[in-house]
Amino acid sequence: MREIPAPSLSARTTLRLGGHAIAELILETPDDLDILPERLRSLGGTPLVLGAGSNILARDGQLPLVLVRPLCAQEITVSATEGEKVFLRVGAGASMARLLRFCLKNELAGLEGLVGIPGSVGGCTAMNAGSFGTEISEYIANIHIATDNGGKNVPVAEAEFSYRSFSIPKEKKNFIILEATFVLTKSKRDGISKRMFHNFFEKKSKQPLTAWSAGCIFKNPSPQTPAGRLLEEAGFKGKRRGGVAFSSLHANFLINEGKGSAEAALDMIDEAQETVLRRFGVKLRPEVRIVPCLF
Ligand SMILES: Cc1cc2nc3c(=O)[nH]c(=O)nc-3n(C[C@H](O)[C@H](O)[C@H](O)COP(=O)(O)OP(=O)(O)OC[C@H]3O[C@@H](n4cnc5c(N)ncnc54)[C@H](O)[C@@H]3O)c2cc1C
Repeated sequence: MREIPAPSLSARTTLRLGGHAIAELILETPDDLDILPERLRSLGGTPLVLGAGSNILARDGQLPLVLVRPLCAQEITVSATEGEKVFLRVGAGASMARLLRFCLKNELAGLEGLVGIPGSVGGCTAMNAGSFGTEISEYIANIHIATDNGGKNVPVAEAEFSYRSFSIPKEKKNFIILEATFVLTKSKRDGISKRMFHNFFEKKSKQPLTAWSAGCIFKNPSPQTPAGRLLEEAGFKGKRRGGVAFSSLHANFLINEGKGSAEAALDMIDEAQETVLRRFGVKLRPEVRIVPCLF
């Protein structure tokens, strides 16, 4: 296990905000899982499993967090086929981009709606990432997790997935997703490639993909009431202060323009929540994970 003292959250998140955690523990081999609980106990603080850091808003200053990165789990392997169905075991540390490239190369359909999401497979599973009408959970059959008491297989029927949320009712919260098994369908490469390109260009035309952001900052209150529309109607589209701004391309993307701070971002979030509640009677809930969580 590799240990890095005082890792910078701003260097590890796509929003590029946040102070320093206590330490970062990089799991390089499966054996590292055996020594992890003891090391976490001696370091103190709250463990935070970190994927690609693309859905995290970390607070400023010294943070009582210990980052855990399951980089030992990166493989993508076909584990079984049943007719047109293909079961794919994917390590949590693999990026979604790599998984989608694998699917295209091996003519496996299902995940095309998730193109352009900059997360890891572990993070996308933990968030039940979704777009273009596809949620990752629709294609997951099984999840392998590490707990304080060792590894466990969790069939999808024992997991609870909902809009940008995932939990395992029988488990305490502090587990690490190590692997997900996907069920995909054999299909022609041309069709898969067309759908991926179409979705990617659609996403690129509507979202500021190259800016420093954590994707959508708020959950949509309902499919008919997107948070971006409420923010736009409340005058937040393009609004900037303290180095952060609501994107002028997509009002639900909060962007760090380079000199932002978590404090400025959290102020903008509060102000947007208050204004939208006052104007429309709707409480916007963050989709981004604000860490450390203070409640
Ligand atoms: C430009 C851009 C576009 C985006 N578009 C979309 C989109 O279309 N749809 C969408 O749903 N999201 C989108 N996102 C948000 C983000 O990419 C997703 O939420 C993604 O699922 C986060 O994955 P990650 O690996 O970066 O997770 P992180 O940000 O590292 O972590 C997110 C949460 O998952 C937990 N977690 C991470 N890995 C594990 C693990 N192995 N085990 C247990 N818990 C874990 C973390 O503790 C944290 O609570 C976008 C983000 C950006 C920057």
